[in-house]
Parts: sequence; structure tokens; C-alpha cells
Amino acid sequence: MIGILWFEQRADPFLQPVGNVFSDLVNVTPVQIAEIFESIQGEGPWAGTPSLFIRTSGCNLRCWFCDTPYTSWKPEGTAWSIDELVWRINESSATDVVLTGGEPMLLPEMQQLSSRCREHEKRITIETAGTVNQPVVCDLMAISPKLSNSVPDDPIWRDRHEAARFRPDVIRSLLTRHNCILKFVIDQPQDVQEVRQWLSHFSTIDPGTVWLMPQARTREQLAERSDWLRILAAENGFRFSSRLHIEQFGNVRGT
Ligand code: SF4
Repeated sequence: MIGILWFEQRADPFLQPVGNVFSDLVNVTPVQIAEIFESIQGEGPWAGTPSLFIRTSGCNLRCWFCDTPYTSWKPEGTAWSIDELVWRINESSATDVVLTGGEPMLLPEMQQLSSRCREHEKRITIETAGTVNQPVVCDLMAISPKLSNSVPDDPIWRDRHEAARFRPDVIRSLLTRHNCILKFVIDQPQDVQEVRQWLSHFSTIDPGTVWLMPQARTREQLAERSDWLRILAAENGFRFSSRLHIEQFGNVRGT
């Protein structure tokens, strides 16, 4: 099932997204889901782990380098009920569930969804930009704060993105309540200095939980930037994260 889009497997009309037959039979609170798929975790400390990814649609930011524009710039998706999502989670043999986006913390139902993942004894990662807070449960909060290198050259979104991308109050709360890592997207070597400035706003961050990851949407970009970023990460006492899904599959949706 690695890398196979679940949507392609929903041949049974009984299991079509809410809004048709199935929606009449369950207590429905539909949420917009861009995609659900099984693949390997490509980033951070649990890289290589077979996981079920649930990607919500919608984001409050607009990074110019967004590699899932179908969740941000042009959001799309299908409505699923929480019951349907839990059924899909339970049906998966993967021990890990990754709740990602877009920005999954925008979803009012994320508390309920994460709690029900826990009931089914799944190990839960939530991937967030750290600008929205709510009382979820997870085993790993993978926060990817957005630096100034993310600001888009867009007349509407430039200021909106800039105003929303840094929320120290949210970061402090997440750090206090969860097992967190910080995963920074690095585009140029000088971005590492901005990471150090960002970290100086917080007193309790272990550099060993800080991961630097290349801004790369192709294998070629990943290889070129990994060479110098590995060295910079080591020099600064940070961790380096590749993007295994790009290495293995390229920039392919559903991986
Ligand atoms: S925060 Fe993530 S999903 Fe949102 S625009 Fe940036 S890269 Fe895309």
C-alpha cells in the first residue's frame, strides 16, 4: 500500500465520502481532507516509519515554496466524517498516523480526531506551522515554524502571511504541553542565522530537537542543498533532516 492514494481504492459506493449514502448512516461532522495515503514518514526523527497520512485541506499561511498548494493556495479536498476517518485509521496496518496539512490545527475537530487515534493505539504525529493552538493529543508535535524565507511575493498574501507566521505564545504553549521537535525549512545558508535568532525568543529549547531541512521539491534540489546543510546543521549543534519521500518518489502527490 506504500504510496497508494486511498481515494483510488474507494470502489465500494457504501464507502464514498460523506454527502451521499454513507453520510445518512453516521453522525456526520464533515471535514475537508485533501488526501489520505500510506507511505513512509520522510522527515524528522521517525523518518522511514510506515505511516498513514491524513492531510487536511486549508492553511492560514501561503509559503511561496509550499509543496502542497492543493491545501493552501488552491485548497481542494473531499468531505469525510470523523467516523469515516477513524474507520480508515483502524483499517490501516500502519502503527503511525500523521495528521498533516495544510494546517491541521485549524480543524475544530482535531481534538476529537486525535483522541480517537489514541483510543485505537496509534502513534500520532501532528505536523503544524505552530501558529494555531488547541487541546489535541499526540506523541510528537512536529512544528515547522516559517522563517522570512517563506514570505510569498503576492500582493494579498505577503502581509497576511508575514503577520501570521510567528506566534511565540502558541509555540510556548505547544512546547509546554507536548513532545516537540522544531523543523526549519532552509533555502539559503544565511537562513541558519535566522534560526538562531528565532530560538533566542525561547529559553528552553534543546538544540537536539531542532532539525534543519532543505527547501527542495525535486531530487536535484534536495541533493544540492543537503550537501551544505548537513555541515551547517552539525556546526550549529542541530540535526539534519532529509526528505525521504522526495528522495524515493520525487515530488509526487500521495507519497
Ligand atoms: S504552512 Fe505548510 S501548508 Fe501552509 S502554505 Fe506553508 S508549506 Fe504550505
